[in-house]
Amino acid sequence: MTEVAKVKNIKLPNDQDISGRTFGEEELNAVKEVLETGTLITTKGKYGKMLEESFAEKMGVKYAFACNSGSAAVHVAIAAINPNPGDEIITTSITDMGALTPIIYQGAIPVFADVCPKTLNVTAETIEAAMSEKTKAIIVTHLFGNPCQMKEIMELADSKGIPVIEDTAQSFLATVDGEKVGTIGAIGAFSFQQGKQMTTGEGGIVVTNDDDLARRLYLCINKAWGYGDENPDHYFIALNYRMTELQAAVSYEQLKKLDASVEQRQKMAKLLDEKIADIEGIESYKPADNATMTYWKFCLRVDDSVIKDGSVGLAGALRTYDVFSAPRYVQKPAFRCQVFREQNTFGDSHFPFNLARPEAVDYSEEKFPGTFKGLHDVLVMPINEKYTEEHIEFVANSIREAVNDTKIENAEAGNKDCVVCGGNKCYEV
Ligand SMILES: *Cc1c(COP(=O)(O)O)cnc(C)c1O
Repeated sequence: MTEVAKVKNIKLPNDQDISGRTFGEEELNAVKEVLETGTLITTKGKYGKMLEESFAEKMGVKYAFACNSGSAAVHVAIAAINPNPGDEIITTSITDMGALTPIIYQGAIPVFADVCPKTLNVTAETIEAAMSEKTKAIIVTHLFGNPCQMKEIMELADSKGIPVIEDTAQSFLATVDGEKVGTIGAIGAFSFQQGKQMTTGEGGIVVTNDDDLARRLYLCINKAWGYGDENPDHYFIALNYRMTELQAAVSYEQLKKLDASVEQRQKMAKLLDEKIADIEGIESYKPADNATMTYWKFCLRVDDSVIKDGSVGLAGALRTYDVFSAPRYVQKPAFRCQVFREQNTFGDSHFPFNLARPEAVDYSEEKFPGTFKGLHDVLVMPINEKYTEEHIEFVANSIREAVNDTKIENAEAGNKDCVVCGGNKCYEV
């Protein structure tokens, strides 16, 4: 057993307040400037447009359109694709609810693909298993800053002519096969919510290279009003999802800091990886060889054959060092949430679930081995751009001690084969 200095608890930077966020003079001056102009609406101000132009440039895409949340970003992406009622949209069983309810609001059926238990990401294999004649779109979520394997997913989607929406809310600037996630599928959707890699409290943005989708995305954010057209009208059903100039000013300045923030997260994650690499019973999430990860969070897989009560036990032990982690991330798969269990939608109609094929809404546990195994094992550790080597040293020591506190005597490591692909196809991390 490695000797560790008795851990002295320190306070970690928290992304819910200034200790873990990068706001400074730049954001303050931009907000002041906006207030002084008196123009807080992006249709008239300059920051909304500046944000869209610089975000498109940063991502290397033709178009970016700002909106007021990540949920709105996902909603306009779906609305742009324009499913018919009862069409199916494949998504993931492990994500933020803000990525799922827009599907229902748009009258489509969310069909859950299982995930790889090692990454909690969907794969071409799990997506294919969820496909049907009614599949209208696929939403992939790059969870925790770790890219999905897009090459296989795009091959599958392209072979059927089905558009892919990338939910990139947690994965700003992550790459796979040298390409930035969010720019590989038809549309990328991002969130600027308080805890994301860049933020303006609440906000979002969508990107695309497709001229027709760009037009629809723009309209879906703007009540479908054809600003600047010869005979403008409200062309179809759409909400006001616009961001304000105040939010745009903050995100514009935050975007300038994004590279540095991501680099710091990567540097600190690498350091933490190294410091805990020899600890038995835990394994950190790492990107595949063809990918880079931008660490929205730093995740561990906890082997409950080695650690008493697995991720829950280790989280409890970590709390005694004032290190607060989230065992099992969202606790349960999305389809176990009340809105899906009871199909609480529009009045008592259960629309659009009343139009669904039975198999599309069959949420039996056997269909989701990767989901249940992945959630069981995962421990989500905090990390952000304000972490320094001192914080990492403290977290690493806390993990080491917490593992010692919870270790099962003479334990043998559990079976590490992937329950979805048998451990052969999914990458070793
Ligand atoms: C945060 C998040 C969303 C929703 O974004 P909001 O800005 O909170 O509406 C959607 N998908 C994922 C994966 C997220 O992490």
